[in-house]
Amino acid sequence: MELKGKTVLVTGATAGIGRETAKMFAEKGCNLILTGRRENRLAELKSELENAGRIKVSIHSFDISDRAACEKFVSGIPAEFRNIDILVNNAGVGRGMDKLHEGNLDDWEEMIDTNVKGLLYITRMIVPGMVKQNSGHIINVGSIAGQEVYPGGNIYCASKHAVHAISQALRMELVDTPLRVTEIAPGMVETEFSVVRFHGDRERADNVYKGLDPLTGADIADLIVFAASRPPHVQINEVIVMPTAQATATIAHRKN
Ligand code: NAP
Repeated sequence: MELKGKTVLVTGATAGIGRETAKMFAEKGCNLILTGRRENRLAELKSELENAGRIKVSIHSFDISDRAACEKFVSGIPAEFRNIDILVNNAGVGRGMDKLHEGNLDDWEEMIDTNVKGLLYITRMIVPGMVKQNSGHIINVGSIAGQEVYPGGNIYCASKHAVHAISQALRMELVDTPLRVTEIAPGMVETEFSVVRFHGDRERADNVYKGLDPLTGADIADLIVFAASRPPHVQINEVIVMPTAQATATIAHRKN
């Protein structure tokens, strides 16, 4: 499917996978609606992408876990960006690796409110427009944590299992429309994810990727753009992708 001229909404575009996804859709000639909380990063990305090509970028800084903020965002999307062709539900967070019985409730609430409720708010507010225009593609960034579990992953895994369930339900419910639903479920991707997960402990974050070649944000962006660019009759339901040196959420081969 030709992507040039399409309008793409990417949540969590200030870093990692979302930022690379925004760049790759911009290279394809798409106009972009980009969100995240860090306004300065959104502004920098907007000027970088607009200067590089003849595309338009609309930026919106808000907390996706705040329902009223999501409503304000959606009602404030400029008229020329209102026909959204592709929604990339990417914003998400991991917090902590505590055992469940020792867990931090603030961490739990942030993960559930961002990864599950934030994704639901945006989906509920954007998909009706896609149904009305009789076209659209929803691409959810899940995780292998939505396919398996691992010790210390409890609530993050639960939130990503929810993304998996939501993606499957949405696909069933939209089967009588031309809309497509894709879930991308990555293993280890080196982004700001682990630094955020360990509350800024860079050494602990670096250890996650030590001794192996992790995926990059661009690797995932590539798959997202690939799924979006298939012909309209092709729906990529799920992609599970890991570094070559990773086999499951708990098995990885590390060089010394
Ligand atoms: P990242 O570099 O930390 O980026 C996360 C993005 O989400 C940022 O743009 C962040 O923006 C946004 N975000 C987080 N909380 C938000 C909130 N409350 N409101 C609005 N935006 C929020 O991590 P990443 O690896 O690219 O993560 C992207 C997605 O991939 C997540 O859903 C994550 O669960 C998933 N994933 C990551 C990995 C991995 O190994 N990295 C593996 C599987 C799946 P602001 O901070 O500016 O708000």
